[in-house]
Amino acid sequence: MDAEITIIGAGVIGLAIAEKISGSNNNVFVIEKHPTFGQETSSRNSEVIHAGIYYPKGSLKAQLCLEGKSLLYDYCRKYEIPVNNCGKLIVATSREEVAVIEGIKNNSALNGVDLEIMEQDQIAALEPNIFALKALFSPTTGIVDTHSLMKRLEINILNQRGQIVYGSEVTGIKKIDGGYEITLLDTDKKNYSFTSSLVINSAGLTSDKISEMAGMNDEKLKISFCKGEYFRVKPPKNRLISRLVYPVPHTNMEGIGIHVTIDMGGGVKLGPDVTYLESNVYDYRVDPSKQETFWKSAKKFLPFLEYDDIIPEMAGIRPKTQKKGEPIHDFYIMEESSRGNPGFINLIGMESPGMTSCLSIANYVYRLIKY
Ligand SMILES: Cc1cc2nc3c(=O)[nH]c(=O)nc-3n(C[C@H](O)[C@H](O)[C@H](O)COP(=O)(O)OP(=O)(O)OC[C@H]3O[C@@H](n4cnc5c(N)ncnc54)[C@H](O)[C@@H]3O)c2cc1C
Repeated sequence: MDAEITIIGAGVIGLAIAEKISGSNNNVFVIEKHPTFGQETSSRNSEVIHAGIYYPKGSLKAQLCLEGKSLLYDYCRKYEIPVNNCGKLIVATSREEVAVIEGIKNNSALNGVDLEIMEQDQIAALEPNIFALKALFSPTTGIVDTHSLMKRLEINILNQRGQIVYGSEVTGIKKIDGGYEITLLDTDKKNYSFTSSLVINSAGLTSDKISEMAGMNDEKLKISFCKGEYFRVKPPKNRLISRLVYPVPHTNMEGIGIHVTIDMGGGVKLGPDVTYLESNVYDYRVDPSKQETFWKSAKKFLPFLEYDDIIPEMAGIRPKTQKKGEPIHDFYIMEESSRGNPGFINLIGMESPGMTSCLSIANYVYRLIKY
């Protein structure tokens, strides 16, 4: 075989897996269609290190988020990656929302995540400019500079003699004796093929297409593109908030409500909302006509916000296996021997908390690999 292990996709998850595996294997390749890492979902997200509050107990999302956040904080400190364990407030702005706060705290405790109930005076001490009748404070939530994180992962992979091939798109995968033949299309529009004993599909939004190429065409692995748009809070109002502020979430967890995130540069943004795209097109436009909806949603807990204080910013697309209206789906991470594809590991539906969990996902995949 030309390669022992091939990882498709250089997003934060593919890179984390490559870093982990290249530490003990010197024949690891990452294939990425873009000219550099993290050009898709990994650079179009909220950059929040999630605590693991909402995921169903026993799910991979709950387990990997909890493990992942500790690993990620340690990793950032070790490599001096900008990170801020600023904490997050989940705010109730109506009597109905106050009633569900206790339930969120209990569910979160089942996952081993402690939240503190805060009354109005405690909230005012933390965030004097917001409105809330009651809130939950999550002390382990934070933010990270995802670009610096991915850059460090890339450096470590290369230092460990892992190879990253940019500008090459996987267009075909054929099962052969002892592995797979992978066909690539490079930037000069030339096709070439190589063989690999193991394949790890970490292709984000098109991971279902990669799985299909290898002959696994299962409806439950189909991805629906689910867009999330953001608006930015213009200066000087951005300075009125210093931590993450979230509303009480929707019941089916398609998203966790238009919230306020801060970034490492002191920027403040509102979002993301939830819009399932009709077909799986890469549509990163932000619809300016949504300004009113964003403003009204945020105004409930940011009373100082005026309509003109926000402007359209950016959008990201969630790779969901959960169809519109369905209950939350878990990450799908599977070694596919049972589908007739030994040595093929699929990672599908790697939406949030995928960035938070990238290092624990890497450990999980490492344990799936049979040397
Ligand atoms: C709006 C939004 C907000 C989010 N907020 C958070 C958050 O606050 N915290 C959190 O933990 N998570 C968050 N997430 C989720 C997080 O961003 C993802 O879980 C994570 O980035 C997924 O990483 P990935 O490597 O799987 O995918 P990607 O970053 O999409 O990487 C996949 C890579 O595969 C490449 N690729 C695809 N097909 C091919 C091919 N055929 N050949 C070669 N290369 C290919 C792509 O070019 C891409 O670079 C959010 C997501 C969205 C959309």
